[in-house]
Amino acid sequence: MNASPAIIILGASALATAKRLQALYPQARIHGLQGRVEGADELYQDFGDTLRALYRGNTPLIALCAAGIVIRSLAPLLQEKGAEPPVLAVAEDGSAVVPLLGGLAGVNRLARGIAAALEVAPAITTSGELRFGTCLLEPPAGYELADIEQGKRFVADLLGGESLRIEGEAPWLAEAKLPLAEDARRSVRVTCEARPAQRDELLIHPRCVLAEIEAPTGNLETLVHNALAAANLAPAALAALLAPREHMADVRLGEVARALGVPLRFIAEDVLPPVHSSQNGIRLRLADSPEQAAVIGRPRGRLSVIGLGPGAAEHMTPAVRRALDEAEDLLGYETYVKMAEPLRPEQVRHCTDNREEMQRARHAFELAASGRKVVVISSGDPGVFAMAAAVMEALHESDDPEWHNVELEVLPGVSAALAAAAKAGAPLGHDFCLISLSDNLKPWDIIEKRLAHAGLADLAMAFYNPISKARPWQLGRALEIVREHRAPETLVVLGRDIGRPAEALRVLTLGELQPEMVDMRTLVIIGSSLTRRFPRADGGDWVYTPRWYR
Ligand code: SAH
Repeated sequence: MNASPAIIILGASALATAKRLQALYPQARIHGLQGRVEGADELYQDFGDTLRALYRGNTPLIALCAAGIVIRSLAPLLQEKGAEPPVLAVAEDGSAVVPLLGGLAGVNRLARGIAAALEVAPAITTSGELRFGTCLLEPPAGYELADIEQGKRFVADLLGGESLRIEGEAPWLAEAKLPLAEDARRSVRVTCEARPAQRDELLIHPRCVLAEIEAPTGNLETLVHNALAAANLAPAALAALLAPREHMADVRLGEVARALGVPLRFIAEDVLPPVHSSQNGIRLRLADSPEQAAVIGRPRGRLSVIGLGPGAAEHMTPAVRRALDEAEDLLGYETYVKMAEPLRPEQVRHCTDNREEMQRARHAFELAASGRKVVVISSGDPGVFAMAAAVMEALHESDDPEWHNVELEVLPGVSAALAAAAKAGAPLGHDFCLISLSDNLKPWDIIEKRLAHAGLADLAMAFYNPISKARPWQLGRALEIVREHRAPETLVVLGRDIGRPAEALRVLTLGELQPEMVDMRTLVIIGSSLTRRFPRADGGDWVYTPRWYR
């Protein structure tokens, strides 16, 4: 199963079971009907539309409602060729688990997992599976069925009384209850060989072939295909592309691997299986098993420097959510790592309270250089008074080629100033500047100079890190400077914990503003001379800075 399942509920009575299933699949989102369910992760308006959209997107569906409702909702899509994700109906009290669709996408496996957690028997109805204790058409990871239509006929023959032999290594079938016989006419054949599936065989390719690219030139995809064809090996038996470490940063390699649908790994002094054949710079090697093939070489590490946004999950970009879901290691303040949930237990959290950002950045490179997928977490935007610049600096200072070979990406987020401004209306609707009042890493007189110039330029200003226990007087001094250039009526917005449960927004004037009203979780916006306000119908004020000047 590639994607995390969606758990869909109609009413609050299903929430308890939904949460039990979410504990089983921490990445799964609970979708609840708007107005009827509180405590869901997503709210929907129309059950049918939601189900169909998720189904089309190939999302596994666990619907906590009557099977009939699910069937009716998806019926219009069933004629279409295309995605067929697993679809299950689960009784809202958890007493029944009914796999409905997605037999080849692992629905029965999903049903067994859910049923085990709910301590009930799954309603498995697939004859082959009931009879043989395994779905022959769904071999485990590392094995590919060559021809599904041929496979269906094969299983029908077995159900009709034919017996079978196993040729090749099929360790997962050891547990199955198959009608084995030495002299059987039918056979399960596990081989890397490229050949059309015969009427009397179930052809399964183990992913044991490794294609090693000596130098990334030419049309690599074609070269790999040609090499496989010349060696009479099935493309479905390809386990991975291998390349020498020195080509790690070559984007063409990543592109071919994606086009071929296999992972890309890099080799140095790894123990490699002997060369099977070689053609035009492509060496093919055969591992003894898919398990062995899967651990040869190591992937290019990735370091994603991400911004969570101000707090609420809905303000996090999908790219950031994806990076978090794919991460093996997460680094950041404990609060931010918590905000990045849901995470899986196997994802390693390196929580730190220390302020040593450079140390954290270097630790991130060390992990990523060893081939891991690493995420460095900031709140808001990672480039705004946060980790991205520290990560860049750490790399700039390093002459370690392994660090420079890491796939580095910075994924933006909604910065506190933008989130707070949006809550208030548009106080940053014209030219503005962002200033951190922290003098930890810059001299205070630079800050004073910038405040004076921003004041003189009539820029709206957003203050980050306005005050803290260690920096108690700086905000008061900053306001003195601002007041030299801005009238007491100038509008001020204080946004505290924006996007988080304790969110508070306050609009006042520069004359009224006292440092005591502000803490380190507050973002301070000082308007320009043109920033204005007017009452909003639901109470409070809208604040905006017009786009014009006069
Ligand atoms: N990278 C972050 C800023 C980190 S500096 C961003 O782009 O938002 C930390 C300061 O940001 C805090 O002292 C506070 O002034 C501000 N801040 C961060 N998150 C905030 C939030 N949710 N609400 C209000 N201010 C916030």
